[in-house]
Amino acid sequence: MTDTGPASISPSARPRPFAGAPVDTDVVIIGAGPAGCATAIALADAGFAVTIVEQRRLPRPKTCAGLLSPRAILHLGDLGIDASGLEGAHRVDIIDFVIDDRHRQLEWPDHPDLVDHGVAVPRHSLDLMMVERARSLGVTVLEEHQAVGPIIERGLVVGARIRSSDDTPAGIAAPRTTDPISLDPTATRGEEIRARYSVIADGANSRFGRALGTHRDRTWPMATAVHAAWASPHAISHAVEISFNLFHDDGHRLAGFGWVVPDGRDSIDIGVGLVSTTSGFRSVNTTHLLEDFVRSIASRWEIDPTAPVRPLMSGRVPMGGSVRPISGPTSLVVGDAAGAANPISGSGIDTALVTGTVAGEVLIDALRGDDPTALQRYWRLIDDRNAALYKVGRLLDRFAGRPSVFERVAASVVRSQWAAETVVRMGTDSLRDRRGGRPEQAYRLLRALSRLAPDA
Ligand SMILES: Cc1cc2nc3c(=O)[nH]c(=O)nc-3n(C[C@H](O)[C@H](O)[C@H](O)COP(=O)(O)OP(=O)(O)OC[C@H]3O[C@@H](n4cnc5c(N)ncnc54)[C@H](O)[C@@H]3O)c2cc1C
Repeated sequence: MTDTGPASISPSARPRPFAGAPVDTDVVIIGAGPAGCATAIALADAGFAVTIVEQRRLPRPKTCAGLLSPRAILHLGDLGIDASGLEGAHRVDIIDFVIDDRHRQLEWPDHPDLVDHGVAVPRHSLDLMMVERARSLGVTVLEEHQAVGPIIERGLVVGARIRSSDDTPAGIAAPRTTDPISLDPTATRGEEIRARYSVIADGANSRFGRALGTHRDRTWPMATAVHAAWASPHAISHAVEISFNLFHDDGHRLAGFGWVVPDGRDSIDIGVGLVSTTSGFRSVNTTHLLEDFVRSIASRWEIDPTAPVRPLMSGRVPMGGSVRPISGPTSLVVGDAAGAANPISGSGIDTALVTGTVAGEVLIDALRGDDPTALQRYWRLIDDRNAALYKVGRLLDRFAGRPSVFERVAASVVRSQWAAETVVRMGTDSLRDRRGGRPEQAYRLLRALSRLAPDA
């Protein structure tokens, strides 16, 4: 992969000692989502000065169904946040896979380090709690401030230019998140925050990251998703539905899934997500796809498909480690900005927490030893963790893009307990070690096969 951007984030740029240059904070973080907050909490807990710049007023609208996997729950716990105690948290015990009118109900697979359930949370509740936790540890959170461009000196990122984003709508009512100002790496306007290190946690579009030269490999899979909520008497269910009943106008089954996530009170989140590798991807209108899906499940969930209780929101999820480079001599990229989401499930909260936590650990080493070379370990640590699984996921996405293949894979997930378990374990990063069972054997076989495709 080539680095086409400015030298500022190039791993080959030469770090320099800080030489007593004045700084406002040890680390500036762009974005207060789970990735940015996880990094901030880890650093502040170790006693370092951290400033988060967030363009929205919190809680801000975020396109997300809010389903936390056991791994997300684990990492939140490590950061001092009890997922089950979040306002509006609702326990999820069962995953109900559906194809045509057949169902396969699966309990959340066991794992020695993880809890045996997921949790559905209102996304604003998760984000607020993470920001509050960060603040309680002394992190400065500049809400309604947008980072408009990096400060680059001698080819290195030494902070961010920011300005008040007073044109940002308040609260959580706005249906879409848009960045009101385009970023310019040479921008001179705005105030400055000078920092020893900078963390780019600005989400899927990552304009700050792009201004520093990150790029997404467009040949790799990406997901696009749209969702809203409907009132349902079954909102108290502890089962989420994952349905493979998404169809193209020409009748073929699309690679992706529809979901139903009950909130435990009165409404259910319904969404559809498609992988960019699916046949006919560009010609699919995802809003119409959601409408069709909602109509198809309306009687079972007893909803009025014409009366959503929350506006429709859509977004993209870069997946499978598709963004590079993710580290530079004085900067790191985390979460969706790093394309970190799982390529099998599209889940990105857990991967945001993981990348944020690893970034925090690396930065702590760098700050303690006054050693910027510590940052070079970041991408290696992330790669060691994810590379093999993500490669398998990317290959599966590619093959599943063919309708005949997806038809068979989806049918076997609903037909077979262990196939369903394999997909859940790979999609939620809960494969066990060598002593695992059939899902781990299947994964090891897929991993071996993936080695035959070195460039995938
Ligand atoms: C429809 C949909 C449903 C999903 N459902 C789930 C789910 O159920 N479970 C799951 O695990 N994942 C889900 N995801 C994925 C998940 O939402 C993301 O992967 C996750 O939010 C990534 O976290 P992040 O911190 O990297 O980015 P974000 O949560 O996007 O946070 C980035 C932050 O940066 C701020 N920002 C951006 N630019 C600037 C700037 N220049 N200056 C200052 N601030 C800036 C933004 O305002 C934002 O607050 C879903 C995604 C979609 C699209």
